[in-house]
Amino acid sequence: RAKKSGRNQMAFFSPALDHAAQTRLQLVDQLREAVKTEAFELHYQAKVDIASGRTIGAEALLRWKHPVRGLVSPAEFIPLAEETGLIVSIGEWALRTACIQAMSWSRSLDRWLTIAVNLSAKQFQDPALLEKVRQALACSGLPASRLELEITESMMMHKPDEAAATMRALRQLGVHLAVDDFGTGYSSLGYLSRFPIQCLKIDRSFVQNVPDSRADSTIARTIVSLGKSLGLTVVAEGVETQAQLDFLQQHGCHIAQGYLLGRPLESGQFIEQLLGRNIRTGRER
Ligand code: C2E
Ligand code: MG
Ligand code: MG
Ligand code: MG
Repeated sequence: RAKKSGRNQMAFFSPALDHAAQTRLQLVDQLREAVKTEAFELHYQAKVDIASGRTIGAEALLRWKHPVRGLVSPAEFIPLAEETGLIVSIGEWALRTACIQAMSWSRSLDRWLTIAVNLSAKQFQDPALLEKVRQALACSGLPASRLELEITESMMMHKPDEAAATMRALRQLGVHLAVDDFGTGYSSLGYLSRFPIQCLKIDRSFVQNVPDSRADSTIARTIVSLGKSLGLTVVAEGVETQAQLDFLQQHGCHIAQGYLLGRPLESGQFIEQLLGRNIRTGRER
């Protein structure tokens, strides 16, 4: 009893702690409200085929339209959304919106673009995931092969057998699966070939130090050749300099993504950028 009242007293005399807890509660309330009003936006970052310079698709990146703070980045609210389970509804919205957007671009460009959507651990474990993906495809009309789902190594390695089963079911729908932030997790190479994946995304932390760091250049090169020998498409994320792009091209990396090729943009700006000229070929990007 004494201990308990002591704790209460400490809370009472610790306004800083109290304040942090209140801020968190308030954020959760606001996030819940945002789910109701769909106060989110997707920004789209180009995925560029390195050999041709063509934009083959985009990755959808979530932002929260906060009433006071403006656009809040996913790093700031996805952990909270995960803890509260709100990510499941937010993710469903993102999936649906991204598919509709990709279908609309493909119609107006008269060629197919692919759209990549990030999944979080909770979504990946959601028993209704398959049905939600099916619905997003059905209501947008987007062919399954134009949707790519990005998951991380830790999501695959958490319960590898269950993860592989989920992935096989998704593959049966026809969607593509990419391993995001590859190289930062602990997946064993032996396991990698057991998962039905089509794509590896080299984490930005390696790409960043290419070609100056010998170690990171070796890692990046090794991931490219590993991916290729497994028959996978290899994507480099976070490409910011021409030297990085040249290195990746030289080592046969297929696709690049990063500020050099395009920042994440809202849909209108994204399509404008896409309609700009391809510097190399003079045609549409
Ligand atoms: P990610 O999937 O690895 O996405 C790449 C992140 O790197 C994005 O940050 C992107 O804006 C940023 N980026 C791209 N190119 C460059 C570059 O050249 N330099 C630098 N410094 N950064 C670059 P963002 O948009 O803040 O997203 C952060 C993470 O939040 C994502 O990492 C992804 O894990 C997660 N996320 C984003 N959207 C969603 C979503 O719809 N659902 C879920 N579950 N997670 C999402
Ligand atoms: Mg991603
Ligand atoms: Mg990534
Ligand atoms: Mg990353």
